[in-house]
Amino acid sequence: MVKNRVSKNKEKISKDNLNFFIEAIARFCDKCGTPYSVDNLQIIQDNDFSSIIHFSCNNCKSRHIATFVKPIGVSSRMPVNSDLSVDEIAKFAKYNEVPADDILSVYTLLSKNPVIKL
Ligand SMILES: [Zn+2]
Repeated sequence: MVKNRVSKNKEKISKDNLNFFIEAIARFCDKCGTPYSVDNLQIIQDNDFSSIIHFSCNNCKSRHIATFVKPIGVSSRMPVNSDLSVDEIAKFAKYNEVPADDILSVYTLLSKNPVIKL
């Protein structure tokens, strides 16, 4: 059910919606002040309650993620300090938790590195 709602919303996202987010959240890059255009925005998650939007700057390449809470019209924004791509962020944002097997794989990998003490 939730999946259906999300994909329906994805189809609804138009340039008008993206312009709304520019108006409501950020018109300019925090770092260099370059104005955002709809091409700089990507919706990571969108439902009736909130939206998560990825902003990337054409000029300085800095990236921000904004959360917009629809019922109260409040947004918050933070820089993306990660080398994850937008698609990867969207992929991982869907998970509520990290699978135990993934944690074990990372632990095993790290424990083989002599520089890292676990
Ligand atoms: Zn910038």
